Amino acid sequence: MTFPAPGSSPIRVRFAPSPTGMFHVGSARSTLFNWAVAKQQGGTFVLRIEDTDASRNQPEWVDGILAAMESLGISTEDPAFEGPYFQSKNLELHQQAAMRLFQAGVAYYCDCTRDAVMARTGNQQTGYDGFCRDRGLEYAEGRALRFRTPDEGETHVVDLIRGNPTFPNKTLEDFVIARGNGTPVFLLANVVDDMDERITHVIRGEEHLPNTPKQQLLWEALGGTPPVWAHLPVLVNEKRQKLSKRRDKVSLESFFEEGYLPAAMVNYLMLLGWAPGNDEEILPFDEMVSRFRIEDVNSSPAFFDVKKLTAFNGEYIRALSVPEFTEACGPWLHAPHAPWTEEQFDAKVFDAVAPLAHSRVALLSEITNNVDFLFLDAPAIDEDSWNKAMKAGAAELLADVRAALAEATWEAEVLKDTVTSVGEAHGMKLGKAQAPVRVAVTGRRIGLPLFESLEVLGRERTLARIEAALASLAESAARTDAEVSAGAE
Ligand code: GLU
Repeated sequence: MTFPAPGSSPIRVRFAPSPTGMFHVGSARSTLFNWAVAKQQGGTFVLRIEDTDASRNQPEWVDGILAAMESLGISTEDPAFEGPYFQSKNLELHQQAAMRLFQAGVAYYCDCTRDAVMARTGNQQTGYDGFCRDRGLEYAEGRALRFRTPDEGETHVVDLIRGNPTFPNKTLEDFVIARGNGTPVFLLANVVDDMDERITHVIRGEEHLPNTPKQQLLWEALGGTPPVWAHLPVLVNEKRQKLSKRRDKVSLESFFEEGYLPAAMVNYLMLLGWAPGNDEEILPFDEMVSRFRIEDVNSSPAFFDVKKLTAFNGEYIRALSVPEFTEACGPWLHAPHAPWTEEQFDAKVFDAVAPLAHSRVALLSEITNNVDFLFLDAPAIDEDSWNKAMKAGAAELLADVRAALAEATWEAEVLKDTVTSVGEAHGMKLGKAQAPVRVAVTGRRIGLPLFESLEVLGRERTLARIEAALASLAESAARTDAEVSAGAE
């Protein structure tokens, strides 16, 4: 990494979100990469809230950003953490910078309307045509301030990920730095704050790459030494489309609500564009920090693979102890997530099956469907499972299973042997014979190991559920018969 020489000023990176009401996974990745650099280099990570769009900002959105930091393991108490700073508090500094640029002659006022520019250029792509460059306009309400980009030469930026791209200055239009009402725009405010906060490295999303030559020109015009840049690859979905909040699930909060563990999320996000090497993927954050090299980040789009993330999550769940797993399941075992009431829930019963669930679920939210049969008075029958399991012969089998289970010693092994022999008597292997039993008792075809589940559920409730399933099968058989005879008449 192009780091300052020893003894010179230390690394200062920043994460500069605009509050939007949700925390995008791409922002989470940018945050983590910045944090990794700051931690590894003994530098500082600045959090700056870019809150100048007053119409869109809401105070609780800032709380959301701070909560996201915590969930990513970035403590505002950590000595490497600085801020949060608020861009809106720097307004005066932004305006002074705009004035300086005007007084130095590198910015000029412009009263062109968009329509007037279009009428002259006939083309939206070419941007501003420089009409007001030499008109010597002074400030007046409604006049925007534009930066005079050089006509010749090139702007070279040092980008650790993108091989130091070069931008011909003639392709850079004279861009606006302050609006007609005097308020500075993003390009300027962002640079002024970075200068004020003595940022040495700007690590941010690829979508800002086109802003970089303009921002670098601003740095130079304001007398600063531009930072080193690193533009992180865009995140794409399985169709290679840029992740979008309309199309894809992108908010960090929504992943946590579904039961992704923060540690799994952090691990996965660190791999979006970077790899620790040796084919290792699941690593503690500190280990990744020590191996992280921003120059090794790939510039091509990074696939945000939810399946892979889910597999990671399963691994992280497996790495918890059972009591930790039980604690992590907490939110899904109670209202509003749980479909059962507090009275129906029994922590001891949950503890009895927690080891079984712990080795199976990939998402914490899956826990409710796995254990609801233990707490609800009657199982929540999944129609598709019922139709698949309750084929011809199911009623006869269930009747015999019920009779055999009424007598069996209530231990998982014995219950298994019992259902196996009833199945054999019906010419069915265990796999087939246990399907109707499972659906009758748990409501679903897939779930925790059946016989351990029955042992925990107890004889009385198991038999009552088989009974209820038999009654329901008898009822639909009677209905079918009636329909058949009605049809024959
Ligand atoms: N507020 C900008 C954003 O959220 C920050 C861009 C930057 O990091 O420079 O996209």
